[in-house]
Amino acid sequence: MSRDPDVVVVGGGVIGLSCAWRLAQAGMAVTLLERSFCGREASWSAVGVLSPGNPNFKHALARLHLDSLDLYPAFCEELRTLTGIDPEYERCCRLELCDVDQRYRMGLSEVRATADRAMPDGSPVLEMLTPDDAVALEPAMQRPQYGALLCRISAHVRNPRLLKALRRACEQSGVLVREQTPVIGLRTDEDTVTGVTTVDRSINARYVVLAAGTWAGTVDPRVAAQMPVHPVRGQVLLLEMDDPPFRHIIRRRNHYVLRRRDGLVLVGSTVEHDAGFEIRNTPAGVEGLIQGALSLVPRLADARVVGMWSGLRPCTPDWRPHIGLVPGMDGLIAAFGHFKTGLVFAPITARIVTDLVTHGQTPFDLARAAPGRPMKLPRRRD
Ligand SMILES: Cc1cc2nc3c(=O)[nH]c(=O)nc-3n(C[C@H](O)[C@H](O)[C@H](O)COP(=O)(O)OP(=O)(O)OC[C@H]3O[C@@H](n4cnc5c(N)ncnc54)[C@H](O)[C@@H]3O)c2cc1C
Repeated sequence: MSRDPDVVVVGGGVIGLSCAWRLAQAGMAVTLLERSFCGREASWSAVGVLSPGNPNFKHALARLHLDSLDLYPAFCEELRTLTGIDPEYERCCRLELCDVDQRYRMGLSEVRATADRAMPDGSPVLEMLTPDDAVALEPAMQRPQYGALLCRISAHVRNPRLLKALRRACEQSGVLVREQTPVIGLRTDEDTVTGVTTVDRSINARYVVLAAGTWAGTVDPRVAAQMPVHPVRGQVLLLEMDDPPFRHIIRRRNHYVLRRRDGLVLVGSTVEHDAGFEIRNTPAGVEGLIQGALSLVPRLADARVVGMWSGLRPCTPDWRPHIGLVPGMDGLIAAFGHFKTGLVFAPITARIVTDLVTHGQTPFDLARAAPGRPMKLPRRRD
């Protein structure tokens, strides 16, 4: 008879897989339960941009964001060495076009906020380029009106490969991965979560890590009440053309284009708060993406559309994730609600969850992501 796992991880997206892998490496017996197949939902549909947030924010969550970006190169290299699957992590500058005065001024304040940080070659981490300099750097890009903010610490990863590597790393590290196994409830004994229930069995575990993305609230009504999360749909286009005429990630507001290592171009992404759980592309969404791409790099008008998809970002009312031990539900650890930055946050979330399971605490400051924190009323942020 197989023994109970130490930890059950619910959800096989980038967060659940990363947590399960690190927990197994730390010596835990881990079972990961995925209702369909691992790495098919938001984590697959993401574009793969790994960018820092606004450097004017100095709070603990902003610190976690930067720490996670710092962990990325080694995280991907470790996966590549262990599994033979290369997640194609690539440092790649990002250019953000400033076409309105307000964005330009904000960009300048971001440059000032990073004035004390430099790249190894001494160049600034963030720099505001003049329109002429921006076009000299990316000649096929539309000329910005005020300038372009160059971010030298952006990167991207090929997320479908990252997910394959994580899944294989889990198995190689001894995680029992059970797909097509939806969790339908938490098992509890008074205030303690003692395991989970699936359609055909109950599984006891010392800890349950809830990493079910935008569906986390469906697992238990107390989770839904205490840690709300809702879907925000994003649509993406994939373009192909011979030698796409740009190298950087180029962005204006929600629109961005990214040239992958294989030469294909990703165009992201819509931010749809009212689409519910419906995963599909819409004519309006696709039209907006095409217009956005052409307004960044007009020559993309010659490209072929070779794919399109959509996914559901797990969003919370204050746009911050729920990460940590859940008050009043001993044994439950929340790891969901990462909205637009779940890929970015995967390495640090896995480290935090592993700290909590192995030591009962973590040195990282989780106050802004604390499960059960008071929530503001939902507001829109595109
Ligand atoms: C269009 C788009 C572009 C994006 N671009 C980026 C980007 O460039 N950079 C970035 O950092 N982030 C990006 N994101 C956000 C990122 O994709 C998410 O924040 C991240 O994938 C969330 O990961 P997750 O593991 O929590 O959720 P998911 O990947 O959704 O995984 C949750 C898993 O839980 C499973 N599950 C649900 N309920 C149950 C249950 N009851 N039992 C068992 N399993 C269950 C699901 O099947 C799913 O596999 C983007 C998102 C979208 C949609």
